[in-house]
Amino acid sequence: MSRPLSIRSSTPSRFGLGLLAGALALAAALGTAVAAPARRPNIVFIFSDDHSLQTIGAYGGRMATFLREQKVTPNIDRLAARGGLFVNSFCGNSLCSPSRAAILTGLHSHANGVMNLNTPILPGTWTFPESLRDAGYQTAVIGKWHLAATPAPTDFWRLLDGQGTYWHPEFITPLGRVKKTGYATDIITELGVDWLKNRDHTKPFMLMVHHKAPHRNWMPPARYYNWLSNVTIPEPDTLFDDYTGRASPAHNQKMEIGKIMTLNSDLKVMEPGKWIGEFNRMSEEERAEWSAVFGPRNEAFKNAKLQGRDLVRWKYQEYMKDYLRCIKGVDDSVGSILTALKSEGLEDDTIVIYASDQGFYNGEHGWFDKRFIYEESIHMPLIVSWPGVIKPGTRFTQMVQNIDYAETFADITGAHIPEGLHGRSLLPILKGQTPKDWRHSVYYHYYDPDHGVPKHYGIRTERYTLVHFYITDEWELFDLKKDPKQMRSVYSDPSYAKTVLDLKAELLALKTYYKDTSDQPKSEKPGNE
Ligand code: CA
Repeated sequence: MSRPLSIRSSTPSRFGLGLLAGALALAAALGTAVAAPARRPNIVFIFSDDHSLQTIGAYGGRMATFLREQKVTPNIDRLAARGGLFVNSFCGNSLCSPSRAAILTGLHSHANGVMNLNTPILPGTWTFPESLRDAGYQTAVIGKWHLAATPAPTDFWRLLDGQGTYWHPEFITPLGRVKKTGYATDIITELGVDWLKNRDHTKPFMLMVHHKAPHRNWMPPARYYNWLSNVTIPEPDTLFDDYTGRASPAHNQKMEIGKIMTLNSDLKVMEPGKWIGEFNRMSEEERAEWSAVFGPRNEAFKNAKLQGRDLVRWKYQEYMKDYLRCIKGVDDSVGSILTALKSEGLEDDTIVIYASDQGFYNGEHGWFDKRFIYEESIHMPLIVSWPGVIKPGTRFTQMVQNIDYAETFADITGAHIPEGLHGRSLLPILKGQTPKDWRHSVYYHYYDPDHGVPKHYGIRTERYTLVHFYITDEWELFDLKKDPKQMRSVYSDPSYAKTVLDLKAELLALKTYYKDTSDQPKSEKPGNE
């Protein structure tokens, strides 16, 4: 079997600062002169939940003009302009907890144990914050964690419980649960800025600011209730997709805006005074502020008695407006953190990263949610600003994955990197020196039973997506050059026969390299296949 295209041919040499520090100590002991290393950079990792590429202006997707005109993501766009943006950035399992675990461990789901929501990382598994702490970094994580185990392996942590809430969230802290008054995105930002100001000024740091927004059910900050109310969000031309040309999972999923998105919880069409969900956490004044804007909207909606495609279109518009309002809140957070870094004099010494745990459907194929290996779901936004290292406005095209983050953070900070990680350090790429054996395909395996999306594994290469829905033994192949919207599988097209064979070999090689046997049924009887 040939080596997968994506696997390193040898262990890359390490030029971590830990080695340099050792060399300096040795030189000092020997009385010889060695140039002092540059100061170790700080890292601020701003992470959101379910923020799609197509709703970030800098990515230039289908809504780019609209996003620019409405100033949806000016601060995230500013970060991209200051640094670089990865256009081929992917997750390995498009779901909250699995993506977070892959980021922490540098391992795919089957190896770190987090294949679904709310499962813990396998005991004893290395996570990058431990290495950073050992290397002399102070570490902090604030906000959504969504992994079963606490405490976080950081010096400072304030964690939302599970999915957390948008309004008046409770945080798990070393001193117990603490309820904060206000809106989650703003509170998480304030905690992050406070931590920056009060940190130990003698040490470099990594601060993780992890937002709940813009996760379902898209509760916006009050200052944006009226924003976008009189505009029309551009519709994707696949909003009324009928899924012909694809295998059964696309037909049978339960993530359609028309059929699955709820009027009451998701779109907040409630009877006056009959509050549901998070509205019960809000004060009378907060509910009144919401009602002043959305009460008349709900009344107009009920009177219109929309049906069929008109109803889907209304749902799409209102879903997207609340989703973008949540994102506008996250973008404000990015702005506040950039301002705080500047006022702390940290602007030139700090790497700022913006990413989200997977992509999301914004009406493409008629869907919301994520899960599939398909484009809008598997793509993760990844924007990195590193003054003096990344050339402003860079568009990185290398294929990168969330399993790469742990080794990257350790490599940048000169921290220990254990053997056997699935990812690779992005540090050479950030410095403009892509390794010759860098990967040309990424591996994907999804397991969760929700939203009617069956388990599947596959690969995404620079041109193709090959997927195996192994419960029903159905395959799909998409030629992204000819069919970027993935409307027709060409798996059975004879002209792609050789491509199918080649990609299957690559998929098998990756699956074998990562030792992923999690698709095999666990037999209770020895010898039972
Ligand atoms: Ca998520």
